Amino acid sequence: MRDDFSPKTKEELAKRVAYRCSNPQCRKPTVGAKENDNGSVSIGEAAHICAASPGGRRYDVNMSTEERTSIDNGIWLCRNCAAMIDRDEKYYSVKMLQTWKQLAEIEANQNIAIGRNYIEQIPLSNNDKIVVEKIIHTIENSNTSYMLKEHNYQDDFQRNLLKPIFNLKDYLNKPSSTISNQKLRSTVQKFIDSLDEFRHLISVKGGLSRHGNDSYEIDMEENQYIANNLCNDIWKNYESIVMVYRSFN
Ligand SMILES: [Zn+2]
Repeated sequence: MRDDFSPKTKEELAKRVAYRCSNPQCRKPTVGAKENDNGSVSIGEAAHICAASPGGRRYDVNMSTEERTSIDNGIWLCRNCAAMIDRDEKYYSVKMLQTWKQLAEIEANQNIAIGRNYIEQIPLSNNDKIVVEKIIHTIENSNTSYMLKEHNYQDDFQRNLLKPIFNLKDYLNKPSSTISNQKLRSTVQKFIDSLDEFRHLISVKGGLSRHGNDSYEIDMEENQYIANNLCNDIWKNYESIVMVYRSFN
């Protein structure tokens, strides 16, 4: 048997986030007017953080029915995000969903208080600062910054010197590295995208060089040019992150 939320709990969950999806990457409004009709459309769902019945995602056998149906175990999401969180319970963990919920509620509360969208103004969380520090420490390692800033990809290079940069990308893609400040999140996303392109270019166009010693080179001049430009992009995005770092250091 399923431990479903009462209609009242569902409504309260929706209201507490102003009927917007609680996924910070989404924030889609979940209600609106129906086309050519006086009625309204809803695409929102009161999703369970820990599943309503055994076999469901994040099901917690130790919870009572009361706990399972309590507002604390619910999160308001759009239909797409509700389906998404049930595809991967490891990635969309209880902790992550609770954080989403908390942020969405703060945002909705602040929007009322200041009468406009608060999204830009959410301060940095402790986790945001940790992620920013990790980026700075990785890049400031002299070899790493050299590979991005000074190195000319017309010359051969040591591929292992690029490893920390590519590992950083993997770190940033982890759920635990999710950034709550929206502005910072989009800056870091641009940084990740440029790293991603660079990594792809190196793996596709970089081959062992004639000089041996595990060094690599990019063959065609146009690809060398692209590599240098991608490093400029990475560096530009990195500098925006440095600005954020300075704001709390
Ligand atoms: Zn959504």
